[in-house]
Amino acid sequence: MHKKRIYADNWRHRGLRKALIDDLRQKAQFDERILQVMENIPRHYFLDDAFEEWAYKDTAFRIEADQTISQPYTVAFQTQLLDVKAEDKILEVGTGSGYQACVLYKLGAKVYSIERQEKLFHKTEALLKILGCNKIRTYLGDGYAGLPRYAPFQKVIVTAGATEIPKALIDQLDAPGIMVIPLGSGDSQKMIRLIKAKDGSIRKETHGDFRFVPLLKGVVKDNT
Ligand code: SAH
Repeated sequence: MHKKRIYADNWRHRGLRKALIDDLRQKAQFDERILQVMENIPRHYFLDDAFEEWAYKDTAFRIEADQTISQPYTVAFQTQLLDVKAEDKILEVGTGSGYQACVLYKLGAKVYSIERQEKLFHKTEALLKILGCNKIRTYLGDGYAGLPRYAPFQKVIVTAGATEIPKALIDQLDAPGIMVIPLGSGDSQKMIRLIKAKDGSIRKETHGDFRFVPLLKGVVKDNT
């Protein structure tokens, strides 16, 4: 069980968040809809409260089970590449803190998100409920296999670095559909956008270098 935490989003948090969003606005031409959603989500809820001050810096941060909450810039970047439309059914591989899932949900998408670390999975599931994101469907499992029961997905987003594009995810992508996945074997990955056309043909684009924790196989049980 986790300690009970009191969640508060005060003027100071909101001020810091606005500054963070202004920073992102300077860095790239992000869709204002995405920035507005991010401005309204209390990102500090997704970090342990001792590290609150880190929530509004444009940086990734360590969370439970040696995993990370993605950098705000990266969240905005991947979200933009996905070209989210209201009612899109989106599969996210790597729920982590739940922050990226929350952004997609607030953009009006139907979000299905898989996490392989059981401890993190339970913690995040509880947080998403507190945030009123209880319509996000979260699953404990190996994202390599996707969620065939709920396929096809109009969008697929992978938030861990992959060495190959899992075939199951390509198969579960709708036609037309878009997948965004960081790909590479070293400690840096290229952001790949895979576009499946109506006729099923596939085209890939490359969108710069990023650093993610690795996409790993199997599920890690919580033994605590
Ligand atoms: N989207 C997250 C980023 C989390 S970091 C956020 O916004 O915070 C990537 C996450 O992917 C980690 O939690 C890691 O445990 C998870 N992960 C890695 N390989 C996975 C797999 N095969 N299936 C599901 N989750 C995986």
